[in-house]
Amino acid sequence: MLKGRELAIFRKQLLRWFRQFQRDLPWRRTKDPYRIWLSEIMLQQTRVAAAIPYYERFLQRFPDVHSLASAPQEEVLRLWSGLGYYSRARNLQKAAQQIVAKHSGEFPTRLEDVLALPGVGDYTAAAIFSIAFGEKLAVLDGNVARVLARLGAIRGDLRESRRWQELQKTADRLLEQKSPGDWNQAMMELGATLCAPKSPRCVLCPAAQFCEGRKLGIAESLPEKRKKRATVEVTLAAAVFADKNGHTLLLPPPKNTEEKASANHVPTLVSRMSHFPTVAVEGEPAEDLIAFLRRMFPGSQGRKWQIVRAGKVRHAVTYRAITLLPFLIEVRELPRIAGAKQVPLGDVSSLPVSNLTRKAARAALEAQGSAPAKR
Ligand code: SF4
Repeated sequence: MLKGRELAIFRKQLLRWFRQFQRDLPWRRTKDPYRIWLSEIMLQQTRVAAAIPYYERFLQRFPDVHSLASAPQEEVLRLWSGLGYYSRARNLQKAAQQIVAKHSGEFPTRLEDVLALPGVGDYTAAAIFSIAFGEKLAVLDGNVARVLARLGAIRGDLRESRRWQELQKTADRLLEQKSPGDWNQAMMELGATLCAPKSPRCVLCPAAQFCEGRKLGIAESLPEKRKKRATVEVTLAAAVFADKNGHTLLLPPPKNTEEKASANHVPTLVSRMSHFPTVAVEGEPAEDLIAFLRRMFPGSQGRKWQIVRAGKVRHAVTYRAITLLPFLIEVRELPRIAGAKQVPLGDVSSLPVSNLTRKAARAALEAQGSAPAKR
């Protein structure tokens, strides 16, 4: 890849382009490592436009490491609610607590201390250190990898471990030494705007004259497609109880051990958050659900439940295509179980729950009022 004078011109043009055309984003107006860290974690699975309001609300409530570390986890998850991939929020808070306990609340300035924080890997550490502290560390994420693959006309699966290591070396070699923070953001900005996955806008690109992919006419086909994991279809049934006051029952978040032991994906699919009693369906959905509830509430053996199918919810999480069948069960009194919450059904959507649970609550609310079927 680029060397000597060509490399110098490439760096100069890219930086000039970034400084002139970069998007005005809230996390670009700060050098506070806490804020940069938060933005990087939010942007891992979320588009920029979607992340901005969350970023601003989160910082209003948790303006620093101390306020985040000492908050109830429920509140952190509530402010994350809707962004998905909740382990990011849990790790963020655990890391804040670690920073308070081990570094007196000051964001660590040694790389090994930052890499020891939950949820922080090479990419995030390099982004924080280069942008906040001006350290010479090159970032490599999906956007940067795509730009590098096109610049160097690199074929094959970029995530394959040896190829990824080579890309990291290339990113290190290209890194502009005087402004590593701006440089990293320029590479990411190029990938997020002009060098997008589809239809790269090469005519506007400050790197066009150096781009092998463009010269060979193969830019758009790079990076080459990864072999996709086959989609797994999962059908779930969820019990949405409703008592005469309109309250429903939410079970506590599944424990890690349950997740490991579970072959039915339920703990993962409810994002390890409060959720309706839910079971993976193998036979007739209503029967499987009733059998599951009888096991869960042993005192309910003789009780007749009136259950109403409340539509169908479709949801996708990574390789799983989920069909969730919510069943509305109207009862005089909600069953009791340790750790469960009783909350107004109409409020479930505003609680820290997964999108799947939120969709089930909405479907049940819509179904309330339909004729119950006796079982
Ligand atoms: S010339 Fe086109 S393909 Fe090459 S880096 Fe620029 S936008 Fe991407």
